[in-house]
Amino acid sequence: MNRALFLDRDGIINVDKHYLYKPEEVEFIPGIFELCQLFQDNGFIIIVVTNQSGIARGYYTEEDFQRLTQWITNAFTTHHIHLSATYHCPHHPSITGECECRKPKIGMLKQAIKRFNIDPKQSLMIGDKLSDIEAASNAGLKLPVLVNEKSTVESLQPATQSLIVPSLKAALPPLKRWINDLD
Ligand SMILES: [Mg+2]
Ligand SMILES: [Zn+2]
Repeated sequence: MNRALFLDRDGIINVDKHYLYKPEEVEFIPGIFELCQLFQDNGFIIIVVTNQSGIARGYYTEEDFQRLTQWITNAFTTHHIHLSATYHCPHHPSITGECECRKPKIGMLKQAIKRFNIDPKQSLMIGDKLSDIEAASNAGLKLPVLVNEKSTVESLQPATQSLIVPSLKAALPPLKRWINDLD
């Protein structure tokens, strides 16, 4: 079985500019490539799972989204990082009705776990919203990581086994320890 690093996109890979779809507006979050390198070197596959209600809202099209996805994937390749897949939810409950994929639901994670034969108990998800953490927990991922600048103290939450850090860079040392403790 594979180990996977699941990444939220907006707020983790790129600065969340709300309904981003233009490559020229992408601003990568400091530390994202280093973090991915660490996991890739330790045998994790990397998968992006992102809510994109901008499609349901008509702010941009499916095609716009796919174009940006290809651009981001290429940028990672330039940094020698392989993104195995990007899953997205194009829905919004009040426009398109309830779906199974919009985080905190686990549809996207479930699909990826099946397709890539992933062991959730050796996998983690990094996101910047509570809905990311809830999705990760609900899908049985071992370590949900919340990166949120409003959280000033790095703290392990024993109850949910989640890690809360103020930035990606602050996440690196505890994640290194977590990887080392896996085996
Ligand atoms: Mg986000
Ligand atoms: Zn959906």
